[in-house]
Amino acid sequence: MLIYAFEKPVFVVDAYARRIFYRLGYDMPAAYDAFRLQVESQLPNDVQMYNEFHALLDEHAKSICRKKPLCSKCPLIDVCAQRY
Ligand code: SF4
Repeated sequence: MLIYAFEKPVFVVDAYARRIFYRLGYDMPAAYDAFRLQVESQLPNDVQMYNEFHALLDEHAKSICRKKPLCSKCPLIDVCAQRY
C-alpha cells in the first residue's frame, strides 16, 4: 500500500473503516476512491497521523464496533447514528 511503501498520506478504505463511518452516519460514497478522497479532504497531509488514524479505526472495529457491536462500551455512542 502507498501509505506504507512510499510514505504518502493515503487513507486506506478497508472493511473496518467502512463499517465505522457508515454506522456513525456519514454519507460516504460506495466507490473506493470516492470514499478515500472524501476522508482525505478532511485530514491534514501528515503520514504519521494517517497511520495512527488507520490503526485506531482497525482497533475500534476489532474490539468494540464488531460485526455484533458492543455499543454499551463505545466512546462514540453519543455521536453514533446506529448505536444498538
Ligand atoms: S455506538 Fe455501536 S455502532 Fe456506533 S460506533 Fe460505537 S460500537 Fe459502533
